Amino acid sequence: MNEANRSEKFGILTPEVLEEIKDAVGAKNVYASRDDIESYSYDMTGQTFAHNFDVLVKPDNAEQISALMKAASRHRIPVTPRAAGSGLAGAAIPIYGGIVLSIEKMNRILEIDSINRVAVVEPGVVTNDLCRAVTAKGLLYAGYPMSTEMSFIAGNIGTNAGGGKVIRYGNTRRHILGMEVVTASGDILKLGGKFRKDTWGYPIMQLLIGTEGTLGIITKITVNLEPLPGKTVNLLAVYLDLDSMVASVAAVVSSGVKIISCEFLDRLSVDVTTKYLSTELPYQDRAEAYLLIQVEGDSDKQLESAYEKVGGICVDNGAMEVFIAESRTDSTAMWQVRQNLAEGMRAADPYTSLSGDVVVPLSEVPKMMKIIAEKCKKWNVVVANLGHIADGNLHPLAMKPEGMTPERWATYSEEFYADVIQEAVKLGGVGSGEHGVGYVKLGALLDSKDKAELDIHRGIKAAFDPLGILNPGKLTPVQ
Ligand SMILES: Cc1cc2nc3c(=O)[nH]c(=O)nc-3n(C[C@H](O)[C@H](O)[C@H](O)COP(=O)(O)OP(=O)(O)OC[C@H]3O[C@@H](n4cnc5c(N)ncnc54)[C@H](O)[C@@H]3O)c2cc1C
Repeated sequence: MNEANRSEKFGILTPEVLEEIKDAVGAKNVYASRDDIESYSYDMTGQTFAHNFDVLVKPDNAEQISALMKAASRHRIPVTPRAAGSGLAGAAIPIYGGIVLSIEKMNRILEIDSINRVAVVEPGVVTNDLCRAVTAKGLLYAGYPMSTEMSFIAGNIGTNAGGGKVIRYGNTRRHILGMEVVTASGDILKLGGKFRKDTWGYPIMQLLIGTEGTLGIITKITVNLEPLPGKTVNLLAVYLDLDSMVASVAAVVSSGVKIISCEFLDRLSVDVTTKYLSTELPYQDRAEAYLLIQVEGDSDKQLESAYEKVGGICVDNGAMEVFIAESRTDSTAMWQVRQNLAEGMRAADPYTSLSGDVVVPLSEVPKMMKIIAEKCKKWNVVVANLGHIADGNLHPLAMKPEGMTPERWATYSEEFYADVIQEAVKLGGVGSGEHGVGYVKLGALLDSKDKAELDIHRGIKAAFDPLGILNPGKLTPVQ
């Protein structure tokens, strides 16, 4: 495990400071033994990225967090908020040590309000638990990262999570109406509420979304709920080449049919995952790419014409065949492959890097795919390519070359991604669409932005967190 990057900027967590932390959050909520805290020193980016830290706290409420932040400010101790730790950019890794603040005990759904179409939740609610609870009341929470079974709502806000339904509903930012936030100095802010319009001052709540716990700690959330979708059906389109697949996507998303999801899987990702699941998809011996498309219709008739239209578009653009799921079992079988890709890749190579996350305009996706293939040759790396293709969001997942040590691979893979990111930026894109910058992509972010923009980043950080104690080393370098 790496030592924390000790900086003289930060204070030392002495036994006296530890007592103040216990006073703030209650002794039962403080953990300091290696056994208790070790698994909080890394996230799903990989154990190779772990960093030591001093103490783990699991507060029960905002008041305790406020008292904790006051103590941390007095002694300038770093505080890294942590949700489920499913992040893929190391955003929850405590690289400067100090305190890890887990919100896992704050996991209640406080209210489902059908009249205002909102739910009020604590930050540690598992995304899918919220989805299930509101579905039972005839409503939809539309956030859907592929990690929905494990991620927490606050983590989704921290990374502005996207996922498989962004094409239809937008990313997490679109689902958040209100937040209670504890600032670095311990003030408790109430932002937004049970309403959908707000031009009442700077949009501070929106600014906090996607800022990886660097500006404040979210302690309560009001989320937007949608009406449940109409009837849906899943299609699997099979392609012999990538260009036809991308051409289909462009035509499908502008077809006027309600598209809920449009996911791309390449040959390697399918081969590896079907092996892991002991299953198979059609034409695996020949197919270069698959599209998994979910369409919606208000009635059986509308649904039928929707899937026929989409299927026809795929075939016109070069799909060799389009399968329509005829039952829930068929749909589950199709989605299982998409949902288990990360597990499949890590079963094939436990060091597979899951952090690749570039976004380019849809029109540039074919170019980006060719560039990724060229970069793979240059860096001698094998990637499985997949992604939320309708958003122009690709996840090249890189496998560790044989013989390379995991430690070297941790830096090598991010150097490879940095090279890919530069090209994505040249094509008018960005280095991350949803996984965030975190620990692993800060260098690439700093290389890709103008000084004027980075100065504004620093100014925002200083306004919210003048001592720089909230998740230091993420989004802006420690000054
Ligand atoms: C198999 C798999 C599939 C995935 N698929 C997707 C996908 O489709 N789309 C997608 O977007 N991501 C995906 N991810 C990445 C990850 O699940 C998301 O980034 C998710 O939003 C992280 O949530 P978390 O609860 O694990 O947060 P964590 O990883 O614990 O934290 C994420 C960030 O939020 C901050 N944070 C946590 N709690 C708070 C708080 N209370 N206040 C302020 N900041 C806080 C942390 O400091 C950190 O910076 C996937 C990951 C895996 C392992």
